[in-house]
Amino acid sequence: MTPDEVIESLKSGNLRFREGKMKQHDYLAQKRASQKGQYPSAVILSCIDSRAPAEILLDAGIGETFNNRVAGNVQNEDILGSMEFACALAGAKVVVVMGHTSCGAVKGAIANAELGNLTGLLNKIKPAIAETVYEGERTADNYDFVDAVARTNIKMTLTGIRQQSPVLNKLEQDGKIKIVGAIYKLDGGEVEFFS
Ligand SMILES: [Zn+2]
Repeated sequence: MTPDEVIESLKSGNLRFREGKMKQHDYLAQKRASQKGQYPSAVILSCIDSRAPAEILLDAGIGETFNNRVAGNVQNEDILGSMEFACALAGAKVVVVMGHTSCGAVKGAIANAELGNLTGLLNKIKPAIAETVYEGERTADNYDFVDAVARTNIKMTLTGIRQQSPVLNKLEQDGKIKIVGAIYKLDGGEVEFFS
């Protein structure tokens, strides 16, 4: 499959999810089939939010996608290393950074929440707040603003991946992979892929 075909298949999976027409996943059969090797077509970075499980939203089964999850879907060295493994060594054709609406991590960053190690994680999201052009109330209580910041955060993560991973950047420049952003809408269930 080409990167574009992989993106189309992810979109189709999300459509099946939204319409309640998911595949009949035989997880035990998928487990057996993938036991000796895996050929996932995409590597996803998404938020830990319990309402946004990437595989379910994209109607993907065992062995179909690599998954990184961290609050606020921001990259770090270990995630970049995982993505490089997925694309350069294990054949994944697409990197998806999938944020979501009503993200608690984004809200926490806007509200300057502080707690142990969470403070440092939220600091990685904060640049997206300043970058977000928004007329209106710029608070964590304004869901519209929170979602605008979430979109900026996804785009900044895409930029960060390209800048901090020469491996992935070259694969993209060579047309071997695509690095794309997407946002999952809790209301309605759509995963909107950025163009
Ligand atoms: Zn979240």
